[in-house]
Amino acid sequence: MPEYLREYGLDTFEYSGGHGLRMSEKTAREIGSQAQKAGIPISVHAPYFINLANEDSEKILNSHRYILGAMQVAFWMGARRVIFHPGSASGSRSRQEITAYACSELKKIIQQADAAGFGEITLCPETMGKINQLGDLEEVLLLCSVDERLIPCIDLGHLNARTQGSLRTQADFKAVLDRIENDLGKERLDRLHMHFSHIEYTEMGEKRHLTFEDKVFGPEHQGLIAEIVRRKMYPTVICESAGTQDQDALEMKKAYWSLQ
Ligand SMILES: [Zn+2]
Repeated sequence: MPEYLREYGLDTFEYSGGHGLRMSEKTAREIGSQAQKAGIPISVHAPYFINLANEDSEKILNSHRYILGAMQVAFWMGARRVIFHPGSASGSRSRQEITAYACSELKKIIQQADAAGFGEITLCPETMGKINQLGDLEEVLLLCSVDERLIPCIDLGHLNARTQGSLRTQADFKAVLDRIENDLGKERLDRLHMHFSHIEYTEMGEKRHLTFEDKVFGPEHQGLIAEIVRRKMYPTVICESAGTQDQDALEMKKAYWSLQ
């Protein structure tokens, strides 16, 4: 895989552990060494079952374990980032209360990660596509304020879906990046983690991932790329198109190079 990516013209990879991340140390280290040989930095996507908003004092510990487990695999792979979905925002508590609760859980997880020797691995809470999920831009920025090592994973398809298609022009992307810079500073903005795909949405937000063939839902990537170049950022951008991730990632890469 790393060799394929290198030859194809891509230069990073996110290992998907969304549906669970059971892997032996031997396999993880082997993937890591192949990736290093090809010069492909890896990030790890933690399981989707994580819910930092879970009030149940037993069940919340499962979310701790999922994140720490993903960090363990990342550690073996030599991956530097672990991406996770913050959780659910449905229920009777206000979103503010839920966010505050999730922030305090995240703080505990970071303490455990440091104690386990995973302090070099960056945790990245992701912006989510469904409105009833925790993870609009503001909530993710609040989560990232818990520790200065945290970097947001800005999923622009998700943000576009939960805001009913608000990302159209370069100015729209600029406004998102301005907000991140304002809250977290330029240094964290520059090395942002991003997910990008066209996503179909309803009034509830995300419905399903599409490919760059889509001309209805967007977002289109050109404005984002122009803004990344203009700001001289060096983010990690992962394309999550439905089945054409490599082709569409390459299209973004070419758009990036064409502006250099
Ligand atoms: Zn994700």
